[in-house]
Amino acid sequence: MGKRVLLFPLPYQGHINPMLELAALLHSRGFSITIFHATFNPIDSTKYPSYRFILVEDGEIANRFTSAVEDTVHRIIAWNNSCEQLFYDCLTSVLSDKNEEPNACLILDMHWYNLQYLANRLGVPTLVLRTGSAATLNWCRTYAQLVQKGIIPVQESQSSMLVTELALAPLRMGDLLRVGNCSHEVLSDLYTHEMDAIRTSSGVIVNTFDAIDSTEVEKFQKAIPVPVFCIGPLHKFTPPARSSLLIPDCSCLEWLDTQVVGSVLYVSFGSLACMNYEEFIETAWGLAKSEQPFIWVVRPGSILGKDAVDLPDGFIEATSGHGKIISWAPQHEVLAHAAVGAFWTHNGWNSTLEAICEGVPMICKPQFSDQMGNARYVTHVWKVGIKLEGKLERGMIEKAIKRLMTEDEGAEIRQRMRTLKHEASLCIKSDGSSSVNIDKLVNFISSF
Ligand code: UDP
Repeated sequence: MGKRVLLFPLPYQGHINPMLELAALLHSRGFSITIFHATFNPIDSTKYPSYRFILVEDGEIANRFTSAVEDTVHRIIAWNNSCEQLFYDCLTSVLSDKNEEPNACLILDMHWYNLQYLANRLGVPTLVLRTGSAATLNWCRTYAQLVQKGIIPVQESQSSMLVTELALAPLRMGDLLRVGNCSHEVLSDLYTHEMDAIRTSSGVIVNTFDAIDSTEVEKFQKAIPVPVFCIGPLHKFTPPARSSLLIPDCSCLEWLDTQVVGSVLYVSFGSLACMNYEEFIETAWGLAKSEQPFIWVVRPGSILGKDAVDLPDGFIEATSGHGKIISWAPQHEVLAHAAVGAFWTHNGWNSTLEAICEGVPMICKPQFSDQMGNARYVTHVWKVGIKLEGKLERGMIEKAIKRLMTEDEGAEIRQRMRTLKHEASLCIKSDGSSSVNIDKLVNFISSF
């Protein structure tokens, strides 16, 4: 009989997708899969008939918070404080089920730090999944030290200065982790808990690949010596997760078929980022003035204070025939489409990695969490994108789109992106770094 792996994703889109892809990967290697999921953003279990799903009924906890970004942090902390008993009941029922295969280990999202301690007490081996880059592990690891040194909270006047402490180059002060109005005390506590929990785990799995992140892994392991497995990009090892929380509008793919190769700008800010109405209007006119074809994802609820997509007068006429607004995209297919020439993104890690895999250069407009740091790597380390700095304004948007899509600078960026895409394609070959790391991970899990 094979062994069973238990997995618990954090219930947000950018965390559910990689965890389900990891589940599919382990399933393809002979492990049975049990997924714990929450009542907030539950996973559609009918799409995965071969897995066992267990609902951890977190009740009303999630609803106590708003959709403001800082509340994602407050919700995570509340879940950790309140879900222990619920998760204990779910976990012990699985562990005592004699009809199930023997359990190999539990894989927890990094943000489930309290559940990590619980699993330790029950003697269940754990691995932590980091759905961001390996660099973000170092940003979280050093956060409390930066607070002690008085670097965080960052003074507005210092935001463009390089961080010279704690080997965090090439980050600038303004690229350091922050989440809306969330206080630095709260973030410092959260990251300290998460790093302490990782120290007690059997290892960390990261959705990244060595060619872009191995020096960050070395830095991390010097400070926290646990095994680290870089096994990304996960979506290239399995069919992408079938777990979209919104229904993708696939009509955009037919529309893309009618567009010139490399001509379309894909605009999407992921599942959580929002903009105010003024930024929305500036974005609309920036897109229109660029005269470049575009697909723009305007997620329901993503324009603050507006229930509907309230487009400015004249916008439809100005963009008719060359613009498409949709509420959710089949992002993998869109990025892989030959007509797409650039991606205006918030630089969530999944989106960044998906763009790299398809060789699509980026216009970066990060908002919170690791997005600023990811954008810094895109523009200043891999040099495969340009950043929109400061307040969104239509002229600046138009200029950035033209720089990337029609000017010589854009051609150079595209060339570097082709090289990076090639490196990503090498790591998934049978002797590539991520494939080798997956074999190591499978052996490691089998040894529990
Ligand atoms: N995504 C999608 N359609 C969209 C926008 C996003 O399928 O219209 C997917 C995207 O492919 C990625 C995930 O949602 O896998 C977003 O994760 P990311 O880390 O980029 O950002 P987050 O939503 O966590 O801020």
